[in-house]
Amino acid sequence: MLRPFLLLAAASLFIVPAFSQAPIRITADLSQAPRKLYSAEIDIPVEPGPLELTMPEWIPGTHGPTGRVTDVVNLTFTANGKTLLWRRDDVDMYGFHLTVPAGATSVHVHLDSVVTARASDKIAVLEWERLMMYPAHVPVAKIPIQPTVIVPAGWGIGTALTPTGSYDPNAKVGGPTEFAATTVEQLEDSPVIAGEYFHEFALAPEISPKHYIDVVSDQPKDSNLRPEVLDEISNLVREASAAYGSHHYHVYHFLLTLSDIAGGEGLEHGQSSDNGTGELGFADARHQLSNADLLAHEFTHSWNGKYRRPATLYQPDFATPQVGELLWVYEGMTQYMGNVLAARSGLETPAQYRDRLAISAANLDYKPGRDWRTTDDTAIASSISRRPGPDWANLKRGQDYYQEGELLWLDADTLIRQLTNDQKSITDFQHIFLGKGGNTGPLIVPYNRQELIDDLNQVVKYDWAGFLHDRVDLINPHADLAGIERGGYKLVYEDHPSASEKLEESVSSARRPRGPDVWYSLGLRIGTDGSISDVRWGGPAGKADLAPGEKLIAVNGRAFSTENLHDAIVAAKSSKDPIHFLMQTEDYIRPVSVDYHDGERYPVMVRDDSKKDYLDEITTTLIKSPAKTAVATK
Ligand SMILES: [Zn+2]
Repeated sequence: MLRPFLLLAAASLFIVPAFSQAPIRITADLSQAPRKLYSAEIDIPVEPGPLELTMPEWIPGTHGPTGRVTDVVNLTFTANGKTLLWRRDDVDMYGFHLTVPAGATSVHVHLDSVVTARASDKIAVLEWERLMMYPAHVPVAKIPIQPTVIVPAGWGIGTALTPTGSYDPNAKVGGPTEFAATTVEQLEDSPVIAGEYFHEFALAPEISPKHYIDVVSDQPKDSNLRPEVLDEISNLVREASAAYGSHHYHVYHFLLTLSDIAGGEGLEHGQSSDNGTGELGFADARHQLSNADLLAHEFTHSWNGKYRRPATLYQPDFATPQVGELLWVYEGMTQYMGNVLAARSGLETPAQYRDRLAISAANLDYKPGRDWRTTDDTAIASSISRRPGPDWANLKRGQDYYQEGELLWLDADTLIRQLTNDQKSITDFQHIFLGKGGNTGPLIVPYNRQELIDDLNQVVKYDWAGFLHDRVDLINPHADLAGIERGGYKLVYEDHPSASEKLEESVSSARRPRGPDVWYSLGLRIGTDGSISDVRWGGPAGKADLAPGEKLIAVNGRAFSTENLHDAIVAAKSSKDPIHFLMQTEDYIRPVSVDYHDGERYPVMVRDDSKKDYLDEITTTLIKSPAKTAVATK
């Protein structure tokens, strides 16, 4: 249910102006996508006098001020057939001031948006914040807007918006499609993908409400997903329904872009998700592994993040800054469940789940930045940590609340199982926490840390306040490995990578060769040419004063190569001599000795037979015998 005191307090900051309640009409023209330009024609009902219009700045799901006002070009305003002068706000770069002349009842806005990342000759992806304009200082849930989308002839459109006429996406008619009026808040939450190579598939037909996956690709064959993948995504729908016990959408569309040009995205929405990978992302089981949790993660956000949202991350407009505390729930619990659901639905195997968890946990455990920053601080500073860069990344920490949260919720899940003699699990908590109010349409229900603690206590009485405080608010030099250990496994380091790490490396190396993995041995991130992007603080190379930006040009008297470096690490294991490097920094060359003798080290998970195998239980399907039925819509 809604927490009205929070919403009322926020709404009272706003004055609702007396503009007409007729909807804004916006037509998004994506037919210039091959030229990297989208256009919008917008008609905004107004009254004469001063007017401030705005575009979204703080974009939900990105946790930062990532609006696209800098991409706007050819902006013009007209009323009564006359061009209006406009002036940008001096402080708020998203605000535009103009004066509506006497007698005018609407302002027409034209703008183009330069789209460099999400468009190709065959694909257009639209997140509406790049085109929307509407009156400033009004709660966006209170502004009606009616969208129309134009795409090239022969293109299909995938979206959770409701078409006003009969619309068959697989007919790929192209041209304009009109959608039912909604609000600015909901339109921002309803992206569109369009493309020449387009397929819409219905998923898990026995589940209500309806679920679809809409796929666009640059290559004709890629959008026609394999039957095995469609079965796995249908299983994902079934497993999520069972895990969360509620839903908060009228219909759900997975929007998937398979493109080396327009892919590379994962953005959650209430009734859809904008997912993008390289063009071969789901082409076979090998490529699929590195994307295994993408759909499950973004789907989970419909419950955790969209429906249940930390109160400080919800603002009634897209202009007020969002506060990132509790992102270790919003993103952290989603990170945990995304990987768990991927394993339960067959998008990855339980062994692959454990391999990938080992890599993630090891990365956190070998991160010296945790000596100065709490996990809470990585969440609060989320908006400035999106792309921290590789230099000294291990000291920066970046957005660790994702993976820290994954370990924290695994810890909580295994603890609930143990405390209740296997009678309960995180599923019981999620049924309470994510299902408040039962099934609903798209809605935002804010929460705070105390509600989280109360709901955990409803599952099993425990010092949950202390549990969260210890893991989130305190400096912890080591990662929270308690869930892995209580779950029946140990994180150890062996002289060869796990099967999954090898597989992922073989796939990525085919396209972009990776340098040697010596992070847990020498403590270096290094490219195929010897360029060093990061040095682990306090690690063997760090103690020898190596730094990011340097280049390793020779190892033990021979020119650097991946093979030579591995050979040197192995040889040093049975020698007392240090490994001799020749380093280049700008124009300077210097010899360096690295005193390291522990051989190759890669993180893997090994079974601890003295404990119950909770990880096996956690990755076991909740649905007993999933039906194998994914069918294309007519
Ligand atoms: Zn996420």
